[in-house]
Amino acid sequence: MSTLPTRLIHHPYRPPEGFEAVAPGVHKASTVFFPNVHALRTQEWKDKSGYTYGLHGTPTTFTLEERIATIEGGRFCVLAPSGLSAISLVDMAFLRQGDELLLPDNAYGPNKSFAHVELQAWGIAHRYYDPMDPADLAAKISPATRLVWIEAPGSITLEFPDIPALVAVVRAANAGRERPIVSALDNTWGAGVAFQAFELGVDVSMQALTKYPSGGADVLMGSVVTRDEALHRQVLLTHMRLGLGVSGNDAELVLRGLPTLALRYAAQDAATRALAQWMQAQPGVVRVLHPALEGSPGHEYWRRDATAAACLFSAVFDERFDQARVDAFCDRLRLFRLGWSWAGPISLCAPYDVPAIRSVTRWPHQGGLVRFAVGLEAVDDLKADLAQALSALVSP
Ligand SMILES: *Cc1c(COP(=O)(O)O)cnc(C)c1O
Repeated sequence: MSTLPTRLIHHPYRPPEGFEAVAPGVHKASTVFFPNVHALRTQEWKDKSGYTYGLHGTPTTFTLEERIATIEGGRFCVLAPSGLSAISLVDMAFLRQGDELLLPDNAYGPNKSFAHVELQAWGIAHRYYDPMDPADLAAKISPATRLVWIEAPGSITLEFPDIPALVAVVRAANAGRERPIVSALDNTWGAGVAFQAFELGVDVSMQALTKYPSGGADVLMGSVVTRDEALHRQVLLTHMRLGLGVSGNDAELVLRGLPTLALRYAAQDAATRALAQWMQAQPGVVRVLHPALEGSPGHEYWRRDATAAACLFSAVFDERFDQARVDAFCDRLRLFRLGWSWAGPISLCAPYDVPAIRSVTRWPHQGGLVRFAVGLEAVDDLKADLAQALSALVSP
């Protein structure tokens, strides 16, 4: 019989097998036990046939990976600690010194920063293409191009690109190449709900699970989904060497969000369309950007390729309102809180200086832009909040 300190650790109780409940168990581990040395030496970590170490997965993270892959119509999924780390994981998996990366001009800002600073320092160049012009993408591809990011729609300005046409450009450029160019979609907006990314032809679908799958604005996580096993293998090996892991508790939070994903998406979609349409008719607003609105850039591609739209819209204000007045409009909102991220329960807004974040495309507006992320509040209350701030803007 061992002494108390040892018995506190090596306890004999084993719960009965066969427990089943709505929520999957939350497994947390760095160490996992092997039954013998042979198993320790030979257990494969890459194919989910067993467990080797917390970083290589637990029943909880495997469950979340498989569910995200299924939702997106992919076969493989790797989790990362944030959406941004999923982006940098894709970059590092597919780019080597001397390679070139192409980014849409309206890409998620931190994706651009990673390319500007880190990738540049490692001898990896990047160029921007006009996401609404597949011919521009074709012209920007060089023998060194190795990875093309696509965003649908673009961050902040919400242009919806012709994804199949962009993918077709990449495929055509790949004819006869030794190292084919990989197309990667930032699929955070679609979330596997609005459209099926792999049916539109992309190789890799990355998501910030921080947004819709979590839905709670209380967890950061990212995912990289693939259909092709060789591409998955590349992502998985880089993921392992970078030591990226997610906690079981965080994985549980995302798993808890999944059953309501479609309901939340639909509810926020309906509310966002109602507010975007209403906003279009308000004095002081010259343009509302939302892929489901007639006349919004890429509306025709959204209508062809998607069946739903996420909770974001942007409003461009008349140029007579300078930045200070647009900022004051944002400050006056009560239900729309100021903050980053979206797809949580609380509506958010933030002003953006679009010309400052463009490189190769011309932004046709002079007035300030505010991006709204619609939460789960009642639409009429949100409308009343926008109305009171707008009336103070237009007639101060
Ligand atoms: C939020 C977001 C990300 C990054 O997600 P984090 O979890 O915040 O790092 C990436 N792409 C898009 C389009 C996003 O909206």
